[in-house]
Amino acid sequence: MADGAFGLSRELELATAPVWAKVRDHVTPLEWPAQAALIHEINQLKRERDAVILAHNYMTPEIFHGVGDYVGDSLGLAKEAARSDARVIVQAGVHFMAETSKILSPEKTVLIPDLRAGCSLAASITGADVRLIKQRYPGLPVVTYVNTTADVKAETDICCTSANAVQVVEWAAKEWGVDRVILIPDEYLARNVAAQTTVGIVAWKGRCEVHERFTAQDIEEMRAAYPGAEILAHPECPEDVLAASDFAGSTAAMIDHVTARKPKQVVMITECSMASNVAGDLPGVQFIGPCNLCPYMKRITLENIRDCLVNMQFEVTVPDEIAEPARLAVQRMVDLPPPAIPARYDLVKARHHVAVELI
Ligand code: SF4
Repeated sequence: MADGAFGLSRELELATAPVWAKVRDHVTPLEWPAQAALIHEINQLKRERDAVILAHNYMTPEIFHGVGDYVGDSLGLAKEAARSDARVIVQAGVHFMAETSKILSPEKTVLIPDLRAGCSLAASITGADVRLIKQRYPGLPVVTYVNTTADVKAETDICCTSANAVQVVEWAAKEWGVDRVILIPDEYLARNVAAQTTVGIVAWKGRCEVHERFTAQDIEEMRAAYPGAEILAHPECPEDVLAASDFAGSTAAMIDHVTARKPKQVVMITECSMASNVAGDLPGVQFIGPCNLCPYMKRITLENIRDCLVNMQFEVTVPDEIAEPARLAVQRMVDLPPPAIPARYDLVKARHHVAVELI
């Protein structure tokens, strides 16, 4: 019976009211009844299927706040996948993240709601490419960003994230007794890491199509339009974007920074949904553009999450011969102590660019 707000039943209105409070600035009253019904249905299906939903920071607010059991960056989500007792993992994110969850939780069923949720960066390199790189640079350790496919991780010595890349690069150089490491596949992450360390970097020309589009001019324009705003950039952006920003770090570091400082106005130079999601938890902070949408992340919707749980589709598997070496590379990273200051890039160093060797 429709006796609640928005034409919802009282039960549905009550069940979804906390979500509405967080998404009301991003979802229209016209859209909400259908979304509230889907959120309620998905949360019931999760119980029936013994499933948890891992929602990446770049999911839309109704997914992030409405159905995500764990929210965070790709590595945080994969670790939650391993910790969870649930039988089924639904990855509300892109395919390489589902693979990483499967690598760390081989006994669980891992589902992704849309198989087309790929990634330009992960697609930039294959395991065969890495084998050729290793032939060309024998003796150098291979450090691979987690935004890669399982077959690339299987060729890797240790994985890294944007939060710990500097630490991992320095660890690998010391462990291998060398002064250069291979850091693939994101060219800009490699350049930004190179500015933070004395270890030489051999890089690959992979790009995240969301972050590579930001320019230093975007920052200049934002500064002119919003003089008091704090500008935060992700290290997958070009070096001059980082150099022009007030803070640079991984998605988790950006969230920590804004949560701790609560500036009046913030510009997040990253995927659009991230600012919308953080805004739900920080009502006093105004988030301003520019932002770019990731078309792969946006493949995931409430509708296909519901279908995924109803039909138990689409299962993501990784063959044992790939999963085992890939797990070792991920586990080596997980076993390193957390960095002293997680994910923050030193902007003074970021302004002194260092040449990298581009393969
Ligand atoms: S934001 Fe960039 S790195 Fe992340 S999934 Fe999209 S294309 Fe890939």
